Amino acid sequence: METRELTCIGCPMGCLLTVEIDKGEVTSVTGNTCPNGERYAKKEVTNPTRIVTSTVVIRNGDKPRLSVKTKSDIPKSKIFDVMKEIDAARIDAPKKIGDIIIENVAGTGVPVIATRNVEIK
Ligand code: SF4
Repeated sequence: METRELTCIGCPMGCLLTVEIDKGEVTSVTGNTCPNGERYAKKEVTNPTRIVTSTVVIRNGDKPRLSVKTKSDIPKSKIFDVMKEIDAARIDAPKKIGDIIIENVAGTGVPVIATRNVEIK
């Protein structure tokens, strides 16, 4: 039996969750104020995922970098690989919100998309 403490990231209340784990299975979650906390704790323990946000160097743009994010959650274990690929990317202006900047980042099946507009300077 293992006990883990997590802070729920579901809303600004940030409830402190206590999670009991037995043989890799969540057996109890306490400290949550709403059911989302239990869902978050179970997912965080068994299959943690995150949206990654960052910036990419953009050539000939009216701004030096383009803000980007993964279009959906990626496995937490892939964050380093995703950041490495985003850091290495070089793209050309113009780009607009929602444009795909990297397809299938780090083999996750998830694209990285633009979250702002950058025009040609
Ligand atoms: S358990 Fe519910 S109320 Fe508490 S931080 Fe998570 S989402 Fe918010």
